[in-house]
Amino acid sequence: MGDIDDTALLSLRDALRGRVLAPRDPGYDEARSIYNAMIDRRPAAMAQCVDVADVRNVITFARETGTDLAVRGGGHSGPGLCLLDDGLMLDLSPMRWVHVDPEARIARVGGGSQLGDLDHATHAFGLAVPAGIMSTTGVGGLTLGGGHGYLTRRYGLTIDSLLSADVVLADGSFATASEHDHPDLFWALRGGGGNFGVVTSFTFRLHPVHTVGVAVTVWPVDRVREVLQWYRAFLPAAPADLYGFFAMLVVPPGPPFPEPIDGQKMCAVVWCCTGDLEQSRLDDMLSVVNDPAPTAFHFATPMPYPALQTLFDTLLRRGLQWYWRGDFFDTISDDAVAVHEKYGQNLPTGLSTMHLYPVDGAPHGIGADDTAWAYRDAVWSGVVAGIDPEPGNADLIRRWCVDYWTDLHPHSMGGSYINFLGEQESPERVRTTYRGNYDRLAAVKHAYDPDNFFHANQNIPPSAAGQRVV
Ligand code: FAD
Repeated sequence: MGDIDDTALLSLRDALRGRVLAPRDPGYDEARSIYNAMIDRRPAAMAQCVDVADVRNVITFARETGTDLAVRGGGHSGPGLCLLDDGLMLDLSPMRWVHVDPEARIARVGGGSQLGDLDHATHAFGLAVPAGIMSTTGVGGLTLGGGHGYLTRRYGLTIDSLLSADVVLADGSFATASEHDHPDLFWALRGGGGNFGVVTSFTFRLHPVHTVGVAVTVWPVDRVREVLQWYRAFLPAAPADLYGFFAMLVVPPGPPFPEPIDGQKMCAVVWCCTGDLEQSRLDDMLSVVNDPAPTAFHFATPMPYPALQTLFDTLLRRGLQWYWRGDFFDTISDDAVAVHEKYGQNLPTGLSTMHLYPVDGAPHGIGADDTAWAYRDAVWSGVVAGIDPEPGNADLIRRWCVDYWTDLHPHSMGGSYINFLGEQESPERVRTTYRGNYDRLAAVKHAYDPDNFFHANQNIPPSAAGQRVV
């Protein structure tokens, strides 16, 4: 159903403590704007939930009125899965809170929180949760997709630190999912995306992380072949406390980069060391960065972990045009290197990039069917991202991304990190991403959301044919 009539809107407003915004209300346009400015949709209404009761009332309302629903966490989804035309957006962004129990090394996190909220609260106790590399990304969407970042090789995916989740289900009921309660739901939430309910809070195990050793190494783009051939051997053999994601990039202006390389196409690795005596250990481990080719720039410094997490916030500010696609890789073959060589030298805009994020180390210690995240044998989660401030360049960045991805895909493992699917791609693509876990996910979906009420996501349609759900 598209429109929500005035009487229904009034009843929704009465049922909530949070605000309900319709198109004629002040603040409507700001509330419907999301991180990726390429996505421009107009919901019939947005319900800004402040608590679990609001979430339950919105779900009941949407069910009873037959209104299409999308759920917004941090609003960072590339394809804008949280935003829809005509229907109702359940907006969790007022639910940004974090409670840390430093003794138990546990944090409870509101379902609309951003990574920066989590890092800020846990850092005060010298603790952290492994998550993504930008502070503005939502804890909700990132965790439900799996979540990887600087701490992943050492401490695992974000879902590997998830202890429990409070969930409002499709029928409006409330459940806490953990290893002991609703274990199938808990299994599915760890990688299955927003298919199973609205998570109003996450409980995470915390790890000791305070100051980390950080380095950025940049090489000329015409040496990308030698660099990638070195990196593909060096990184997987390195201890798990060393992390380094590879990037093709245009060097941004300003510090720490020296002026002569400003605006040049380069390749780079951003390193993070979470081990003991991080900086000296990092310097020691990175004494080899000139081996593949002389570096154009190398910079290393100790840094509080939240500072590392905000390093790219200004460069990749909200409101840019984005188009991305991803894939998992277990190796970087010579054929893949040739593809990176070709497209890295033809980055279409100053912000467009390709990243290879390591997902080896600790994630490999967990079985492929222990959580919904099926690619436990992947070594990198790759993403090609066309990015630019100019809406007129939307086609240019989309074309470059699709061409790059199309040439690279045959050299991948076949599936992608669910959060790097660039749009609601084919059902086949979602199925490939879950490999042997797909049928069980469809069965859990059938048990918890048989009508596919939650479908504004990388959708797993319900099917009773899969394994038995407990
Ligand atoms: P939203 O757009 O709000 O939601 C995305 C999906 O999750 C929607 O289907 C939504 O319904 C669902 N959802 C969100 N919250 C909830 C909830 N509480 N309950 C139920 N469903 C919910 N990923 C990484 O793993 N590591 C990274 O380093 C990383 N870096 C990124 C950097 C940038 C600049 C961007 C744009 C994305 C990055 N991502 C990264 C990908 C990111 O994980 C996904 O975009 C993720 O979907 C963002 O979650 P969100 O809550 O902000 O998004």
